Amino acid sequence: MLMFLFVAAVAVVLPDAPKPYEVTAAKELRTYLGKCVPSGKVTVGGAKDVVFHVGDTALARAKGLASEQIDEDRWIIRSFGKDVMLVGGGTRGTLYAVSHFLEDYCDVRWWSDREEDAPVRDSLALPALDASGKPAFSYRSIHRSHNRAESDPRLAIRRRLNSNGLVPIPAEWGGGKEYGPPDHAHTFDMYLPWSKYGKEHPEWYSLIGGRRIGGQLDGQLCLSNPDLKAAFLGKLREMIAKGDADARAKGLVPPRLYEISMNDNGKACECAACKAEYEKWNKSGQYVRFVNALAAEIGKERPEIFLTMLAYIYTEEPPKGDVRAADNVIVKLCDTKSNAAASILEPDNDVFKKLLAGWQGKFSHLFVWDYAITFDKRTLGFPFASEFHYADTYRRYLANGASGIFWEHEYPLVSDLWEIKFYIESRFFEDPYLDEATLIRDAFQRYFGPAVKPVFAARRMLEKVRVRTKAVIGWANEFTFISDGDLAEMSALWDEAERLAKGDAMYLRRVKNARLGTDKLAEYRRHMPVRRADGVYVADVGHLDLTYVKSHRGAIVDDPESPIGGKAVAFDTEPNAHGYLSLPFAFGVYNTGTKKTTGSREFKAIDTSPGYHWYTLESTTIPDNAMLYFTRAWQLQAPFGYPLFAGKKFDIRVAAKFEGPEYIPGSTATNRIFIAGYELVPR
Ligand SMILES: [Zn+2]
Repeated sequence: MLMFLFVAAVAVVLPDAPKPYEVTAAKELRTYLGKCVPSGKVTVGGAKDVVFHVGDTALARAKGLASEQIDEDRWIIRSFGKDVMLVGGGTRGTLYAVSHFLEDYCDVRWWSDREEDAPVRDSLALPALDASGKPAFSYRSIHRSHNRAESDPRLAIRRRLNSNGLVPIPAEWGGGKEYGPPDHAHTFDMYLPWSKYGKEHPEWYSLIGGRRIGGQLDGQLCLSNPDLKAAFLGKLREMIAKGDADARAKGLVPPRLYEISMNDNGKACECAACKAEYEKWNKSGQYVRFVNALAAEIGKERPEIFLTMLAYIYTEEPPKGDVRAADNVIVKLCDTKSNAAASILEPDNDVFKKLLAGWQGKFSHLFVWDYAITFDKRTLGFPFASEFHYADTYRRYLANGASGIFWEHEYPLVSDLWEIKFYIESRFFEDPYLDEATLIRDAFQRYFGPAVKPVFAARRMLEKVRVRTKAVIGWANEFTFISDGDLAEMSALWDEAERLAKGDAMYLRRVKNARLGTDKLAEYRRHMPVRRADGVYVADVGHLDLTYVKSHRGAIVDDPESPIGGKAVAFDTEPNAHGYLSLPFAFGVYNTGTKKTTGSREFKAIDTSPGYHWYTLESTTIPDNAMLYFTRAWQLQAPFGYPLFAGKKFDIRVAAKFEGPEYIPGSTATNRIFIAGYELVPR
């Protein structure tokens, strides 16, 4: 008997002249229904022969529910007998209706560009459908990467975001709420470049230390200058015209956000007129008044456009007096100081809570620019259980009048538990009042399947440790709040999770990927020197990297003479023509970022008398990214670029022992070197 495996197509109706995003929505529905219900057996309220009507169909129009009649980004799922209507407001609402339908009724989950669930069933018996929703925040942006290949816009729309960070969403996926040119931040110098106008109009630019200067790094504009507004306005109109033209060419809605913000530095103008204005309104108040003045003109010509501005560094402090940002201005408050692992409700985060409170009454529209990861690349991916606090954070934003979030959550492949956090973030952007315990449990359960118990236990434990130790997680940390014992316990839980997921390649892959941060921390910890009671940091052989020394008969040996831990790495010099692998003994500090040696010493005199001797490189500043190398051939190395040491001065002391003949320049004799480890003595 022949067996035929086939995917029965579900009936999907589109408008007569469908828009590109409606075509995408219908394709999305067919694709995932095909995956989830290959039999095509779908009923709704008991009715068979179900027909899906996607977008501005005759059915939607007959019900008075076409996209232009619905609020932007609102989605509607409704059945009438066997007919199911999926439609929404603006260019994205219909796509959101489809993704909600697939998530809520077919259990489809989009976790990342790589991970998704589309569970298969024999048939799908839907109840009579009547669901709809409108996201709580009107601007929902998660920035993953500047690189399109690492930031697929499809994921943003499937997760009901309306901006894909800095990668635009194309027309066939509904387009995003994008910024017009020149950029989304730090635009002063892009409108009026110092390099172009500085000579002719120095008075437009900031007075810093007695001279006029501008530029992205060196200065700002002089916002009290009476002629600046007209010059800026002219440029702004040019940018809006360009934004319109670019959008038209791509079939997109013209951008409605134009950013007017300071260059990325803290050097505000010091001229007398500006100072007088700061006195009266604060730096932020002067800036709000400048943007308001532009907005008043643009508002007359283009009422749908918003000018956006940054409350950042010197404009974080709210304005004084009765200054308030105009109705067509959006204030973007940046959170650069919070403890990323803690709830916004904890005392650690009072600074940002106070800023939010201080801006009350000073804006008509507020976006928050916030961060979900640690940016220091050595500690990127180390675990912290922020997923338990996002609900508090977004609820507070909403309660304080925020209508938009720009959320930086980069490095999906390496940052801690990215898929789970991204899912939770985007769900709360739609509705921060969802029951968080249920949502979080459900996300872990679906993502980790059979391994969920130990994974959840590891995350709960991580959070308990953080609370117990009052740890603060900023952009660069040592994660010392996790003790070696805690780390071992967490690693054991991840081992258990791997064991439980072993039978399923997908869950095993997810567990292995999710535990990388914990593994990376363990590896980092293994190499990190340990602080002794006297303040000296000590690294025994366990902290050394044996990769290169192995080819020189290098190995760890027990040595009772060793002053550090009773062990040493022993290896031979191998004199050759260029003598690199011979004595004299040398060691030094290499900056792996700039690829330059930043400190080194050669010891002409080797002490071959028995036992270990200390060799010291005095008063050396340790760079941000550093490695310690031993011998002129760098046969032995030790990573030691830790935020804890960066920029600080130490004496570096190496304990070494030499066996063999006394060193004579040019000698081809072989010596055996023993290195017990090193110490960092703070200066
Ligand atoms: Zn000035």
